[in-house]
Amino acid sequence: MDAFKKGWFSEFNDLWPGISVSFEVTKILHHEKSQFQDILLVDTKAHGRLLVLDGIIQCSESDEFSYQEMISFLPLCTHPNPKNVLIVGGGDGGVAREVVKHPGVEHVTQVEIDGRVLELSRQYLPSLACGLSHPKVTLYVGDGFEFMQKHSQQFDVIITDSSDPIGPAECLFQESYFALMKTALKPGGLVCSQAGTIWSNDLQVEKTLEHCKSVFPAASYAYTSVPTYPTGQIGFVMGSLNPNTKFGEPVKVFTENELDEMKLKYYDDKIHRSSFVLPRFAAKAIKNL
Ligand code: SAM
Repeated sequence: MDAFKKGWFSEFNDLWPGISVSFEVTKILHHEKSQFQDILLVDTKAHGRLLVLDGIIQCSESDEFSYQEMISFLPLCTHPNPKNVLIVGGGDGGVAREVVKHPGVEHVTQVEIDGRVLELSRQYLPSLACGLSHPKVTLYVGDGFEFMQKHSQQFDVIITDSSDPIGPAECLFQESYFALMKTALKPGGLVCSQAGTIWSNDLQVEKTLEHCKSVFPAASYAYTSVPTYPTGQIGFVMGSLNPNTKFGEPVKVFTENELDEMKLKYYDDKIHRSSFVLPRFAAKAIKNL
């Protein structure tokens, strides 16, 4: 299917059969095939710049904060002492930008498979990519799955900010990946992974949560709204080595002043709690796992 028609970019892929989101494009900024994927950056009339990998929207300048803040602060505020954080994927830099804001975080390791995503994000998405050059961040270019195989008891929190389960990210949704993350965590550690939407590819949510539950003694699913993603919603699977973890009850609550100082626009303790409250159909599907 032709992704560009009459100045509009449309997202087509098999993960969301019968659904396509479209954006009026003001400029094609860059298009190439890297060693790993098709990379497209466009400027749009309504949502600023978009990063598109293998035809799938990764982020837009207008609403990326919702995703980046939630995938970062849900685990960071559930862990009592998140000193050492690992980010897998996250090539646009938005998650690193958020994670370094947490006052308890001392060091962030990030492993992104595609060096071209890092370079192009620095060039075209500087408001996100600023996270990549923060002094707390050590960046590696490599495969997150292979990286995980070489690390043991090292991280308090692992955030998997991956693209969707096709192409290079497929391995990051497997049960074996959750098992490797378990080994890479320090005692009491937590994981948080991008896990799809309950509205269309709900099987992806169920499968990912099932993998997480089979490895971790405590697991849950939370969601946030991102208008530029198909269905306008995306979620996160979280797992903890501590069986008593209450995911919907943040152990760290920031004051209004602290939230303002950290320039948080979406996350606070109220939205943290509410993000784990699912509509009945989804709660039932997940309960049966
Ligand atoms: N927020 C986005 C979303 O949910 O659509 C994800 C954004 S981020 C750009 C996803 C990144 O994961 C991409 O840069 C991609 O190159 C990276 N990635 C995919 N597979 C990977 C792997 N096996 N190891 C490390 N990074 C990977």
